[in-house]
Amino acid sequence: MDQLSDRINSLPISATLAMAAKARELKEQGIDVIGLSLGEPDFNTPEFIKAAAIQAVEDNYNAYTPVDGYAELKQAICQKFQRDNQLTYQPNQVVVSTGAKQSIANVAMVLLNPGDEVLLPAPYWVSYSAIATLAEAESVVIPSSIESDFKITPEQLEAAITPKTKLIIFNSPNNPSGTIYTEAEYRALAKVLEKYPNIYILSDEIYEHINYGEKPFSFAAIENMYDRTITVNGVAKAFAMTGWRIGYIGAPAWIAKACNKMQGQITSGANCIAQRATIAALEAPVSAIQYMVDEFRNRRSLIIDLLRTIPGLTVNEPQGAFYVFPDVSYYFGKSIQGQLIENADDFALFLLEHAHVATVSGTAFGAPDCLRISYAASEAQIREALSRMAKVLG
Ligand code: GLU
Repeated sequence: MDQLSDRINSLPISATLAMAAKARELKEQGIDVIGLSLGEPDFNTPEFIKAAAIQAVEDNYNAYTPVDGYAELKQAICQKFQRDNQLTYQPNQVVVSTGAKQSIANVAMVLLNPGDEVLLPAPYWVSYSAIATLAEAESVVIPSSIESDFKITPEQLEAAITPKTKLIIFNSPNNPSGTIYTEAEYRALAKVLEKYPNIYILSDEIYEHINYGEKPFSFAAIENMYDRTITVNGVAKAFAMTGWRIGYIGAPAWIAKACNKMQGQITSGANCIAQRATIAALEAPVSAIQYMVDEFRNRRSLIIDLLRTIPGLTVNEPQGAFYVFPDVSYYFGKSIQGQLIENADDFALFLLEHAHVATVSGTAFGAPDCLRISYAASEAQIREALSRMAKVLG
């Protein structure tokens, strides 16, 4: 441990991946754990995407790709941005990476200097703060709660800005809360940012297609924000392609160029077969994946109904993504089955040990009163998990 760098020693373990690993470990011991911790669609990758990958293997796509992605893929990404987000990007503004996580890390590495501040409207995805730490920047959390539907206000944003603020990370639909900012809400936040031209905006839109009514609005579509916004997306969530690892950005050309340079020294281009498959995914009409969204919608209703029968849990109705984020603070300071629950970490651990249900504590998401439950699981698993939770909490 002493020999390891300060960089790695100060880096927290990814709470989402850690919980998934813990659940896997218990399963290997023969314990029937229901995993509702990982944000991962339980569908198979659609056949037409698999076929494109098989074809790519047959066609001998095996060599290094351009560092920033195949030209055809970047073209498909530009068309997707135009079609779905009314955003005009040229291929030199696009960089394809090994998952949206790498896209975000690239942006952090090329924009942040030690001591810069990164604003994180909470709740925020666990890796944003860890990536900021890796870039030697400081995370500044802007809190929210279930009462404000997990949204921050322009006043809060303004109050959090300092001369050191360099980046703000928006994520709508949000992981973990499922919250979607409306166009008007985003425009009100942009009004504040207008006054601070040195602040950049990373808009993580990975859950874009998984929404239940309110179509998410792209931050870069605000005219005077386009030149300061990096739009991050990928195919993992919407196309059930988590393991294929393809993410991408649309950004000002100078930022894209810097990300290309960064990636060229760390990983080179993303996997060639996955890139070919992604062309098929992005060129298909969005209706091709609607069946998954419809299924997530049904599961959302189911899990909310079941959660509302458990006393002490307060739950809002998420508008997108596939997580519910109940406030569980009612249980803090109470003993259940002889075990004292002091915080959300204890609560998540209690559920894992006593109900064999894996969830993720809200602490790592900057919302220590809450618990993230993923409903990217079958209806039967959701029913069983919630019935176990009701039993141990009742
Ligand atoms: N983004 C997913 C989640 O939040 C996958 C795990 C991860 O990369 O954090 O569960």
